[in-house]
Amino acid sequence: MSGAEFELPERYHGLREEAAALAVSVAHLAAEADEAGAIDPGMRAALAASGLAAVCVPAEYGGRYADIDPLAVAVVREQLAAESAHLDSLFAMQGIGSYALARGGTPELRERWLPRVAALDAIAALGLTEPDIGSDLRGTATTVAEDGDELVVGGHKSFITNGGDADFYCVLGKEEAGLSMVLVPADTPGLTTTRPHQIIAPHVLGDVVLDGVRVPRSWRLGEPGKGMRLGLATLATFRVSVAAAAVGTAQAALKEATVHTANREQFGRPLIQLGAVADQLARSWTEIEMARAFTYRAAAAAARDPLGSLHLSSMAKVAATETAGRVVDRCVQVMGRFGLVRGSKIERLYRAARPMRVYEGATEVIFDSLSRKLVKELAT
Ligand SMILES: Cc1cc2nc3c(=O)[nH]c(=O)nc-3n(C[C@H](O)[C@H](O)[C@H](O)COP(=O)(O)OP(=O)(O)OC[C@H]3O[C@@H](n4cnc5c(N)ncnc54)[C@H](O)[C@@H]3O)c2cc1C
Repeated sequence: MSGAEFELPERYHGLREEAAALAVSVAHLAAEADEAGAIDPGMRAALAASGLAAVCVPAEYGGRYADIDPLAVAVVREQLAAESAHLDSLFAMQGIGSYALARGGTPELRERWLPRVAALDAIAALGLTEPDIGSDLRGTATTVAEDGDELVVGGHKSFITNGGDADFYCVLGKEEAGLSMVLVPADTPGLTTTRPHQIIAPHVLGDVVLDGVRVPRSWRLGEPGKGMRLGLATLATFRVSVAAAAVGTAQAALKEATVHTANREQFGRPLIQLGAVADQLARSWTEIEMARAFTYRAAAAAARDPLGSLHLSSMAKVAATETAGRVVDRCVQVMGRFGLVRGSKIERLYRAARPMRVYEGATEVIFDSLSRKLVKELAT
């Protein structure tokens, strides 16, 4: 029931097996890691030993593929998310947190950081969100100013994955020319981190305060005022991988619920033979297969032309994360009280699915931009 075989090119099959093997090997760590507010050392060591973080970095800097391949990232995330949201996030953020550097950094800066990202020797993070700024980044309040050969960065980044554990942050800030992206190492004087928020989902999050932080001017990523281009390029490559993580999450929930309902009897029969339960699970299976097929189609399109197929990646992200939300909820329901036990796998999956509909473009924000593209394509 892994589903993707019918069209996943053979060259990705080995990668899928590697990712599945890693997921199985850390299953005993998953419950504790998914509760942790900081990166779990065992998960980190296992991911580093697997060599899979190299999928998130270009080959020139120690990565696995010449360019980061959205289909490869999707293949890995589907497997990892099925076992641990913590592991999935740790993997994905090495790409999401370093892509602006890979695209916009000077050769020296890339050489300094990217091989360490590929080896999981350095943890990457992306700082866009602020206390008052979420979906609409145009209002970014963090400032970037040139001062001789240096850039001075000031502001507050909030809800940053790996915040507090990252070795560097790619930070978006307002400069005269527009929004710019700057790389700030975590040990730069003036950078402090806190962990004010604990969310319902398994996730390592922190806030990052930049108080007159100074870095060399050459650590600006890309051109002054063009930082949003790097943000868009990051989305175009990685948004579809959220869909894959959602498919993995939903598939794992379906497995939990199917095993449970096939083995528990009420009214003289296994639960799964009661019509309503059978309907919920068969409906979920159908929806997962649709989400997976579309996710892989979009990921393959993104592998060919990330920006040109961003609308497909966005649709896949909405389709798969909304599917995962429905599926985990049904799975909890058919498991009755056993679906509600804290620390159980189904409970972790239930909580893991929820934020996927908010980050990397909330469903409504994506629909808003898709509707504008729709008008452009069909009504003008
Ligand atoms: C687990 C997790 C990890 C995260 N990691 C990071 C990270 O690593 N780096 C980072 O920078 N940020 C990160 N974030 C923040 C995330 O990017 C923001 O939560 C997201 O951009 C939405 O912003 P917001 O939460 O402020 O919601 P708001 O922008 O306040 O929006 C709230 C809701 O309003 C609706 N809405 C907003 N705009 C529109 C619109 N145009 N049309 C229709 N409806 C709309 C949507 O329903 C949306 O969910 C993370 C968040 C979470 C939950």
